[in-house]
Amino acid sequence: MTERTLNNGFFLTCTFLAVAFTALAAIPAAAQLDIDDWARQAGEQIVWRQTQLSDTVYLLLPEPGLAGNLAVSAGEDGILIVDDAMIPVAPKIKAAVAKIQEGRIDFVVNSHYHFDHAGGNAAFGADSAIVAHANVRRRLLENRHAGANFSATPFPPEALPIVTFNESVTLHWNGEAIDVIHFGNPAHTDGDAAVHFRDSNVVHAGDQFPNLGGYPYIDRDVGGSALGLRDNMAQLLEIVDEETRIIPGHGPLATKADLQKYHDYVAETIEYIAEQKSAGRSLEEVRKDGLPEKFAPYGNGPLSPEPVWIGYVWASLDD
Ligand SMILES: [Zn+2]
Repeated sequence: MTERTLNNGFFLTCTFLAVAFTALAAIPAAAQLDIDDWARQAGEQIVWRQTQLSDTVYLLLPEPGLAGNLAVSAGEDGILIVDDAMIPVAPKIKAAVAKIQEGRIDFVVNSHYHFDHAGGNAAFGADSAIVAHANVRRRLLENRHAGANFSATPFPPEALPIVTFNESVTLHWNGEAIDVIHFGNPAHTDGDAAVHFRDSNVVHAGDQFPNLGGYPYIDRDVGGSALGLRDNMAQLLEIVDEETRIIPGHGPLATKADLQKYHDYVAETIEYIAEQKSAGRSLEEVRKDGLPEKFAPYGNGPLSPEPVWIGYVWASLDD
């Protein structure tokens, strides 16, 4: 995969429809995407739209979608948020959370290390305990913000998670158990977590499920896997029901039916590409012919252009 396609794939993943950033897609292949500049523009433009999902859990959705969706748990014990966008957006996050409940934000959970989800850590780490998969801390220690072509100011120590886990951790908070679950496979990244607010029956799925329609982004630079993503989403389907409100990494609030459709779409395209590969066809041939019509992207997708998705699957089949 060329650096250019990687850039464009991630560009589409993270901005989905962000017309303001069209110019960034045209950067030369060798150039680095300046996340500080992206974050500054996001800080100026984003408005957080609040939806209450249970007595204690809220969705904060950014408009325009220049950052990931946030979940907020607010109640007697205090405040927990899932994901924190980027530093220039942090004042607006704090204001949006204060509208729900005043007081310190006690916990920040990172769904994964990407800059549009954990990029705001430094603005919260002094007051909040940051919780994340061990590989999130590892990637932030590397000053990695996303794929190889992204540059930004290095993360200071206060941006690092202080509570890490390998499989899962449960917080008993605001009257319910809140499970932060790594499903065991590298997927969107090597440290994805879904957050299950058990009694509220709400899940924050992170970028393993961007509810936009189309092929997802796989961060191959850190060992992400299309097959792992498929298998993790099958596990997530096991813990949700028809009533579960699913907060995707990006895009509108979703249902189990939306997640099932996405899982099946991912699984069936993988199956098709795997068949082509075992039949002895080359990556170039499969890309040239494209996928069958029934796999046309739906909704506002695709997040990764079809040839990029075929490449992700092809490479993941060799892992
Ligand atoms: Zn991501």
